[in-house]
Amino acid sequence: MSLQSFQMYINGESCEAVSAARFDSMDPSCAQPWASFPDANGDDVDIAVKAADAAFNGRAWRSLTATARGKLLRKLGDLISENGEQLAQLESRENGKLIRETRGQLAYLPEFFYYMAGLADKIEGETLPIDKPDMMAYTVREPIGVVAAIIPWNSPLYLTAIKVAPALAAGNTIVIKPSEHASASIVALAQLAEQAGFPAGVLNVVTGYGPSAGSALTSHPLVRHIAFTGGAATARHVVRASADNFAHLSLELGGKSPQIVFPDADIDSAVNGIVAGVFAASGQSCVAGSRLLIHESIYEEVLQKVADRAARIKIGKPSDADTEMGPMTTEAQLNIAENMVATALEQGAVLRHGGKRPDVNGGWYYEPTLLECQSPTDTLMQEEVFGPVAAAIPFKTEEEALALANDSRFGLAAGIWTRDIARAHRLCRDVRSGIIWVNTYRVVSAMAPIGGFGDSGYGREGGIDAVLSYTEKKTVWINLSSEPMADPFVMR
Ligand code: NAD
Repeated sequence: MSLQSFQMYINGESCEAVSAARFDSMDPSCAQPWASFPDANGDDVDIAVKAADAAFNGRAWRSLTATARGKLLRKLGDLISENGEQLAQLESRENGKLIRETRGQLAYLPEFFYYMAGLADKIEGETLPIDKPDMMAYTVREPIGVVAAIIPWNSPLYLTAIKVAPALAAGNTIVIKPSEHASASIVALAQLAEQAGFPAGVLNVVTGYGPSAGSALTSHPLVRHIAFTGGAATARHVVRASADNFAHLSLELGGKSPQIVFPDADIDSAVNGIVAGVFAASGQSCVAGSRLLIHESIYEEVLQKVADRAARIKIGKPSDADTEMGPMTTEAQLNIAENMVATALEQGAVLRHGGKRPDVNGGWYYEPTLLECQSPTDTLMQEEVFGPVAAAIPFKTEEEALALANDSRFGLAAGIWTRDIARAHRLCRDVRSGIIWVNTYRVVSAMAPIGGFGDSGYGREGGIDAVLSYTEKKTVWINLSSEPMADPFVMR
């Protein structure tokens, strides 16, 4: 079968790598190569970053009013909407996410561009009530410069949109390095940006591997801000790379998010929230609710319902409209899930459902898996799987539930299931986590910040904070006095 061939996109042109090297990308639903991409290295990254820097300083982009920038973003949102089906197909093909999920995500994706388009001309400074006579001072917010966006494979378009839309709304330029496992949808997005009318060099995509293209990008001296989503080990490289030129950083990393279920909860809702939270996208979601903390009085009932629903999940090809769970995106991730389940069983966990690789078309599939752990210190209660594996443990009191929820070095998301409004608010106050969902799970919006506490990273994407994080604040002092400047050794 011949591979689909994609190019990368630098300075307004589709292009090959300088070295002409290419790499293949696999279709996880059948474990066969399906596409090939230019394998960028430092030379290509240098060209892309210099193009982005030239665009940042060039008239075509710099002289646009903020309102005009917003209009370009709105146009890009419209084009994403018009080309939603093609983008949904590409993302489903490259990472194995269900076509019905990528269609759903694509139907919402333009909203990120519309929301940020609306903010582009509302990035305001302040006039300061300054305590010096004859002085006026005000602040302005200016774009930072070239942004490097490093994207993982699990939700490439969504995770790119929440970086590109605010970065461009604020007037920056950007170089995107998608995952080597999921680059096709991002190259397609770049072509839509060209159609929308963004000047050459404003949005660039380099395709390639992390240690070569990714590392060259994050350590490039002209990069002023790095927006990274991915794993903690990679994030450590990125933080070190940023030290050379003190680039701004936002890190969206992993999680081990708790789902806390109290006896007064609507149990069926909680079960649906748990199933959606950890088995949707085959658990390859940063906010996967993979730690089930369930009150002892309902523990058996909830576990049985989750196990029953897991047993009915229809595993199959992501392109089939009735499939409920598709493959894992990479063989490495499948091996991680399998090894972590094996370790859990060695540590005494009880398998309630799953734990096997179903044979579907030779692809990288793993069953929805539910285990009961013995201790909150078990590996499965502490470490992220990034796969469809839930670890459960009972609790007796609200205090114990809170202690268990906070017994994690991560802090990305938490689900709280209760009808007691005071208890819900107490836990919203006390659980250390960047997102808390009460009686719901996995809801996102362009208007709501996303980000983590602790090892889940820092910085926020989404909402007004996001656009401001792509700006620098400048303070301007004006001497209002008509008197000559005073003797420099007399302080004002
Ligand atoms: P990863 O860290 O392996 O790769 C992420 C990106 O970094 C890829 O584009 C990769 O090529 C690049 N990269 C790798 N080495 C690099 C280096 N030395 N320098 C610069 N870039 C480099 O992550 P992944 O396996 O693609 O994704 C899974 C991880 O991402 C999980 O830990 C998951 O929790 C996390 N994640 C977090 C969020 C969030 O919003 N918090 C969302 C999705 C995924």
